[in-house]
Amino acid sequence: MAQEDVFKKLVSHCKEYGFVFPSSELYDGLGAVYDYGQNGVELKNNIKQYWWQSMVMLHENIVGLDSAIFMHPTIWKASGHVDAFNDPLIDNRDSKKRYRADVLIEDQIAKYEDKINKEVAKAAKKYGDAFNEQEFRSTNARVLEHQAKRDALHQRYTEAMNAGPDLNELRQIILDEEIVCPISGTKNWTEVRQFNLMFSTEMGSTADGSMKVYLRPETAQGIFVNYLNVQKTGRMKVPFGIAQIGKAFRNEIVARQFIFRMREFEQMEMQFFVKPGTELEWFKTWKETRLKWHEALGFGDDHYRFHDHEKLAHYANAATDIEFLMPFGFKEVEGIHSRTNFDLSQHEKFSGKSIKYFDPETNESYTPYVIETSIGVDRMFLSVMSASYCEEKLENGESRVVLKLPAALAPVKLAVMPLVKKDGLPEKAREIMDGLKYRYNCQYDEKDSIGKRYRRQDAIGTPYCVTVDHQTLQDNTVTLRDRDTMSQERVPMDKLEAIVADRVSITSLLKKL
Ligand code: ATP
Repeated sequence: MAQEDVFKKLVSHCKEYGFVFPSSELYDGLGAVYDYGQNGVELKNNIKQYWWQSMVMLHENIVGLDSAIFMHPTIWKASGHVDAFNDPLIDNRDSKKRYRADVLIEDQIAKYEDKINKEVAKAAKKYGDAFNEQEFRSTNARVLEHQAKRDALHQRYTEAMNAGPDLNELRQIILDEEIVCPISGTKNWTEVRQFNLMFSTEMGSTADGSMKVYLRPETAQGIFVNYLNVQKTGRMKVPFGIAQIGKAFRNEIVARQFIFRMREFEQMEMQFFVKPGTELEWFKTWKETRLKWHEALGFGDDHYRFHDHEKLAHYANAATDIEFLMPFGFKEVEGIHSRTNFDLSQHEKFSGKSIKYFDPETNESYTPYVIETSIGVDRMFLSVMSASYCEEKLENGESRVVLKLPAALAPVKLAVMPLVKKDGLPEKAREIMDGLKYRYNCQYDEKDSIGKRYRRQDAIGTPYCVTVDHQTLQDNTVTLRDRDTMSQERVPMDKLEAIVADRVSITSLLKKL
């Protein structure tokens, strides 16, 4: 199945099974805003719990924080967001659609890349085992031509972005490359303009007494402005970290691809404060630690890659993204940045207050350097869903849709089903529910045939189904069905908790770290 179709199916699956709904659907939706349904919220909470525990429980020197969404507006001046948190936008006059100029050009670069890959795949098929990919890439005329065009475009684009960005040059590139609007098919483009991504609103009730405040575009600044409060009250010593999960808001110009790019989303960020000079060592450590966190989910190490930034933000001295293989290619899920002492120094400057750290061991004061790990909950959710979604043909000719979610993240851990709705089986099933519900999210289901009930649980990723039948009444054993293998075994009711526990708890993931 084409990857585009997989993605479409995934989006409708998310809706059909109560994972993600378009926001305000009753009123035809609100662009790039989504709600999480009964299963989505459980999966999301489990992802957050996995991240939180891996940070705060497994590291003695990392503590949590929950700062407000509204902050003093000068914070965003200091951080650079008021002046520089912009995207270059361009409109097509015919379709009236708005695009990010940088994304149009990046897509064009990706098109050259696609063409190259298609040539390679074609030749690989043609020559079979005798195919030498490296040689082909360095000699085939068509590949070389595409490569040259791609490299020239990449260079021109990088120079334009580094020069401010140079908005006229970005537009010229779009014209020279003959990029057309995918909707109207025309090249009738406007000028390129800068667009600030922050949402603003008014705080205070009187017209002259109100002040313009922003909805935070990242959670990190709440950590920076509190770092000394936490350090002093928590008696933290550098190196130490502060972790926070919370909503962030960005008025994204082009918000497509479902929950990949939203206007209201959630971030899990950890800022790690270190001694100046040690930051690159810590950057390396956090790269490894974070990749391990992802890999422990078991989707396969080939689903991840690092994308080290060539063009660094002015405040960073190293940066990388962890990219995940989504149905629409490798995409950023997490950013790891060495942010130097930029943010803390800026807050010192703009607030006029010293926020230096006093090192009791060396008796010196300094502004710590910061390593940041920043991951979007929603993008993580999408990556987990897309890697878990599976359509399987069964031996009996039927097919099933199954979400092979890591058991520890599954919304429902165990479904309990009486084989029939009579003969005392529902009561027995309820007895099992009552015993397990304090530890796991369990679901009771007695409607429809057992086969249909299994399919329903497969579709939401429930790792185990427990069936209560007439034999249960005699010997207190039940059948335990495994979601992935569909195998069933007979187990004593009182062993259920122990059998299931090991696989479905977040601890099972944490132990792999
Ligand atoms: P992009 O280049 O995709 O816009 P970014 O580099 O601006 O992302 P960061 O500012 O580094 O993103 O934010 C950290 C993380 O927050 C990202 O890795 C991503 O997972 C998440 N994130 C950022 N913007 C959005 C968004 N609009 N919707 C959902 N998640 C987002």
